[in-house]
Amino acid sequence: MPHTTPYFDYHDGVLHAETTALSSVAAHYGTPLYVYSKAALLHNFDAYADACSGRPALVCYAMKANSNLAILDLLARRGAGFDIVSGGELLRVLAVGGDPRKVIFSGVGKSVEEMRLALSHDILCFNVESIPELHRLNAVAGSMGKTARISLRVNPNVDAKTHPYIATGLKASKFGVAFDDAMDTYRVAAALPHLEVAGIDCHIGSQLLDDAPLLEALDKLIDLIDDLALEGIVLHHLDIGGGLGIDYGEAGEAPPVPVADYLGRLFHRIDQWRRERHDGVPIKVIFEPGRSIVGNTGVLLTTVEYLKKGEEKNFCVVDAAMNDLMRPALYQAWMGVQPVQPRSGTSADLYDVVGPVCESGDWLAHDRILSAEPGDVLAIMSAGAYGQSMASNYNTRGRAAEVLIDGATAHLVREREQAADLFALEKVVK
Ligand SMILES: *Cc1c(COP(=O)(O)O)cnc(C)c1O
Repeated sequence: MPHTTPYFDYHDGVLHAETTALSSVAAHYGTPLYVYSKAALLHNFDAYADACSGRPALVCYAMKANSNLAILDLLARRGAGFDIVSGGELLRVLAVGGDPRKVIFSGVGKSVEEMRLALSHDILCFNVESIPELHRLNAVAGSMGKTARISLRVNPNVDAKTHPYIATGLKASKFGVAFDDAMDTYRVAAALPHLEVAGIDCHIGSQLLDDAPLLEALDKLIDLIDDLALEGIVLHHLDIGGGLGIDYGEAGEAPPVPVADYLGRLFHRIDQWRRERHDGVPIKVIFEPGRSIVGNTGVLLTTVEYLKKGEEKNFCVVDAAMNDLMRPALYQAWMGVQPVQPRSGTSADLYDVVGPVCESGDWLAHDRILSAEPGDVLAIMSAGAYGQSMASNYNTRGRAAEVLIDGATAHLVREREQAADLFALEKVVK
């Protein structure tokens, strides 16, 4: 059974995004092509927004997952805040008229220039990851006559049980302040004149299918918030990060916990805590979801170039490659591969789906049963997160075009890069 979603499904033997046939989109715009569903995007965001309704909460979309302006614009107009990891991402938020007062700035290596830019736009909060960063931010804010609101990214040392490259909450991780050092680090922050201690944050990993590690992290943050309050350091927000996984359709893999269930359990725990130990004053809760907002809102369309039958393996050589979609090469990620127009007459065979890039790591899928012919269009499913945003120009390949589907209408939201664009900034030495 092919893996489909309400927004990417077969009608009359053709894979559609909403009510648009992907065969015609591929024919019109060419491949490789990223195609997103507007309805799927809003549906996924609304799952968070609805679960938060009536509460002091902010959903800050982690835009490194997919930072196309069309997506940011739709989310900003829906009320989303943004979790950024660079000055460039802040400029994208500003380019769509997003509210910088709903922006939080994450990352271990914020430069002086990035701090200045963010302070000049009065962002909501800097998620600080080390003591040297506290000192740098204090100095930069002081030099501008400003006060920076900060949160400390605490490493709760819980095992997110995910791929090591996307687990971030263990002691050996480069991210965050060690749990045991958090109190001291808050004392340092509270004593710096140009910082205002606003909250606490964590982000323990990505593609989490179970919410148990997230709720375990929550309990650790709650303990810290209580301990800090005893010292007179009162926090106003609690940011639990992102990390909720999506269903990539891999056989045997458990489906992720639904957003509403996870948020329901999280808010239940928070409400209980506030009733037990506090005066009922709510604490603002911030989320930083990336993948669970955009992951299954997009597919990557690619055309079969050659079928290469080998002694040990058959290769289905397609026009998309690791530069377009890096997740398989980087994380050995499993991505679903489905024909846009499934064939009945052609016999099926076992293939590795590979791209034209000159690297053995350039593969998109291993050991898939496909009945395909050169010229057929395949859809790499659930490619909306960490697809185009991680794309590169390796092998002087222009990045793919991007299309946003709204019902029966396709909008080109990023043009295909041309080779001349790729070397326009280069110069030969005379
Ligand atoms: C990448 C990242 C996120 C988003 O993670 P997802 O798994 O895509 O939800 C959230 N917060 C921080 C700090 C991140 O680095």
